[in-house]
Amino acid sequence: MFCRIVAGELPSDVVHRDDHTVAFRDIDPVAPVHVLVVPTRHVEHAGALGPDDTELLGALVASAQRVAAAEGVADSGYRLVFNVGHDARNTVGHLHLHVLGGRRFDWPPG
Ligand SMILES: [Zn+2]
Repeated sequence: MFCRIVAGELPSDVVHRDDHTVAFRDIDPVAPVHVLVVPTRHVEHAGALGPDDTELLGALVASAQRVAAAEGVADSGYRLVFNVGHDARNTVGHLHLHVLGGRRFDWPPG
């Protein structure tokens, strides 16, 4: 599904795009700022990243930082989350980094 968003085949609210990533708003937000950063190359999930993916991982974090700044939460704080597998409730088979902000979050997460 996210491959189709990257390709522009599905409508989405894109907030940032660069050579390696696309960032768009989650359709079911759990915070005032809830953006997903995905690699343009298909990767199943964070558990499938390997030693050859350090550049991609850096690009994802850099994109998330830009999103946080653009959304005005860089100073107030934000959470970056990778969910992997069933127990983490990952339901989409394309790697995505959640950028969550605009409210306070409990720790540990509920
Ligand atoms: Zn994909």
